[in-house]
Amino acid sequence: MEKLVIAFGGNALLRNGDVPSFESQYSRSVDAFNGIWEILEDNRVVITHGNGPQVGNILLQNEFSRSITPSMPLHGCGAMSMGFIGHIMSLAYDNVRLQRGFSREPIVIITRTLVSEDDPAFLNPSKPIGPFYTKQEADTFVQDRNWSMKEDSGRGWRRLVPSPAPMDIMERNSIIRLLADGFQPIAVGGGGIPIVRRKGKFIGVDAVIDKDLASSLLATIIEADRFMILTDVPYAYTHYGTKDQEKIGKISLDELQRLYDMGYFASGSMGPKIKAAMEFVRKGGKKSIITSIENSGKAFHDHSGTIIVPP
Ligand code: ADP
Ligand code: MG
Repeated sequence: MEKLVIAFGGNALLRNGDVPSFESQYSRSVDAFNGIWEILEDNRVVITHGNGPQVGNILLQNEFSRSITPSMPLHGCGAMSMGFIGHIMSLAYDNVRLQRGFSREPIVIITRTLVSEDDPAFLNPSKPIGPFYTKQEADTFVQDRNWSMKEDSGRGWRRLVPSPAPMDIMERNSIIRLLADGFQPIAVGGGGIPIVRRKGKFIGVDAVIDKDLASSLLATIIEADRFMILTDVPYAYTHYGTKDQEKIGKISLDELQRLYDMGYFASGSMGPKIKAAMEFVRKGGKKSIITSIENSGKAFHDHSGTIIVPP
């Protein structure tokens, strides 16, 4: 029995063309749990997940009803998305386990991730979030709310928020304890709610933490045997999307770092996954795996997927 962190990508809840309703996300989630069930049954696993489209929709609901009820800060919306997704995932998990006759109970942990206010990311907000606005609205938000706004390829103006590096997981001890006690934790949703320490006080901040980097940090903290990132492609590739595309199978940390430095992995998608996978191995983890949900069983047994090993 191994200890693992499995990070679900966006496709565990929504796929291209899905209407983002409760029902469709529930049904994708059932498929996702069935996809990793054998791994869950035989091991102790912390499940983490993204929240991009969900928090985006909460922000829309938030912004368009601000004349009726006060809008909430981004970190509040992040918390809402975690509760919402946690509800969907624990319901899906429970129904899969009922059907399969499995006793391990799920527990959703609303997780906060500590970041540093000195992180250079705070000087350079880079992550677009929420609705598109007109130039005039954008100017008001810069004035009144101190937001960073950027024109987004002719579609309008969007808010930019910082994406700082995760430093610590505030709920680390609860996660470790619950896992050891035989629960099925679902944690670090959307990378966790960003928290900073300012003048001896903790406060929530409007930022977005990469879910793969935060999941990697959790895997290191709980001393996991492996870290698995499940996305919508079975491998990371070089020359991705071209005729020269080549899958990356088992690879050493050093060799993958070399490919990373050559710029093979897109910064908004595969790049952070590679970085997160390397980080876990660099800090002493035995193995990181990047693959799809469908391929996860084979990859777990070393027969598929991009598998990163030391050194
Ligand atoms: P998730 O939502 O699962 O966390 P993303 O959608 O952000 O993940 O990233 C996965 C996507 O990364 C793939 O669907 C693929 O289109 C893209 N991608 C970019 N570069 C690569 C690469 N070198 N190899 C594989 N996939 C890549
Ligand atoms: Mg995605």
